[in-house]
Amino acid sequence: MKKKLSLPIQILIALILGIVVGLCCYFAGWGSFTASYLKPFGDIFVNLLKFIVVPVVLFSMIDGILSMEDMKKVGSVGVKTVVYFMCTTAIACVIGLVFANIFKNAHLFPVLDATKAEYEAKAFEGFMATLVNIFPTNMWQSFSSANMLQVIVIALFFGGSILAAGEKARLCRDIVSSFYSVIEKLMTFVISLSPIGVFTYMAWVVATQGAEILGSLALVLLCAYLAYIFHAVFVYSVSAKVFGKISPIKFFKGAMAAMLFAFTTTSSAATLPVSKECAEKLGADKDISSFVLPLGATINMDGTAIYQCVATVFLASCVGMNLSISQMVLVVVTATLASIGTAGVSGAGMIMLAMVLEAIGIPVSYIGLIVAVDRLFDMGRTSLNVTGDISCSVCVSRWEAKKAAK
Ligand code: ASP
Repeated sequence: MKKKLSLPIQILIALILGIVVGLCCYFAGWGSFTASYLKPFGDIFVNLLKFIVVPVVLFSMIDGILSMEDMKKVGSVGVKTVVYFMCTTAIACVIGLVFANIFKNAHLFPVLDATKAEYEAKAFEGFMATLVNIFPTNMWQSFSSANMLQVIVIALFFGGSILAAGEKARLCRDIVSSFYSVIEKLMTFVISLSPIGVFTYMAWVVATQGAEILGSLALVLLCAYLAYIFHAVFVYSVSAKVFGKISPIKFFKGAMAAMLFAFTTTSSAATLPVSKECAEKLGADKDISSFVLPLGATINMDGTAIYQCVATVFLASCVGMNLSISQMVLVVVTATLASIGTAGVSGAGMIMLAMVLEAIGIPVSYIGLIVAVDRLFDMGRTSLNVTGDISCSVCVSRWEAKKAAK
C-alpha cells in the first residue's frame, strides 16, 4: 500500500510548488492571472478557517477548562501562560531593536522620501476603553464580529460556571464535549485542504510582490527576518530544551506544519487548528493546549513585536530621528502592549504599529512607506507568533506535570 505523505511534507511541497509557479508567472507577467484565478482558492480556504475559528476557540477553551476540573488549576495555567507570553514578547522587542540598530548604524536601511507616504491610521481609544471593550455586552455580537478577546472571556465565564454548578451542569458538559468532537472533525477536514490553500497563496504572493522583494525595502525585510530567525533559534530552542525538555530539532520539526501554514495564511487565528495538532504531537497536554493556544493566537505575538520595533527604527531613520535609550524603552513597552492588542489576522500588526509610532512622535502616515510589502513582513511574523504559542503550551504542560508529580 502507498504511504500517505504527512501533512508537514504536503504543505512543504505545496509551498515550494507555489514559489516555482509564482516565479514563472512573475517573469511571464501573469501576476494578474494568479490574483484572479489562483488567489480565490486560497481565499476560499481562509474563509473556511475563519468560519470555524470562533467555535474552535469557544469550545476548545471551555473543554480545556472543564477537563482541568478545578478553577485553581485554570488560574495556575493562566498565570504561567501570561508570564511566559510577556517575557518572550519583551525579549522579542529587545532583539528587534538590536537588529534594527545594527542595520541602521551600518547604513543598510534605505532613506525613503516620507513626504510621499500616505496612510490613514485608525484612532486609538486609549487603554481603559480597550480594557472595558474586552467584556462583552452581547455574546452573539462577539461571535459574529469574531472578537476573540471577548470570545475568550465568554469561554472563561461559561467554563468556570459549569464547573461551579457541579452535577446539575452535566448536560452542559456533555453538550460541550459533543460539540467539540464535531468541531474537531470539521477542523481535520479543513486542515486536509491546506496544501491547496498554501500553494495558491504562495504562487500569488510571489507572482505579484516579486518587484517589492527586489526593491528598496529588501534590506528592511532582511533585518526583520534575521531577527525573527534569531528569536526562534535562541528563545524557543532554549525554552524547548530547558523548560519543555525536548530537543530543539524535535521541537521545530513538530511545529513545522503550523509554521509553514502561518507563513502562507498570515493569520494566527486561522492557524489555530494546525497549532493544536502540532502542540499535542509535541507532548503538550490536550487540556492545557486547548487553553493556551487560543489565548496565544489572540495576545501572544513575538513576531509582531519584532516587526514593530524594526519598522519603528527604520521609519525613524527616514525622518532623520535618532532614538534615545529612553525612547527605546518606550518602544519596548508600547510594542509589547501593541502586540498584545494585535488580532491574530492578516495585517493587524501593521495597524497597531501606529500606536508605537504615536508614542515616540513619528507621524503615522509614514506607515505608507512599508504598507505595500506588509504581507511579506506578515508571513514571517505570523510564523513566529504561532511558534511562540506552541512553545508556551509545551512548557506550561511540563511545569504542570512537574507540579502534579510533587
Ligand atoms: N498576522 C499576524 C497574526 O495573525 C498579526 C500581525 O499582523 O502581526 O499573528
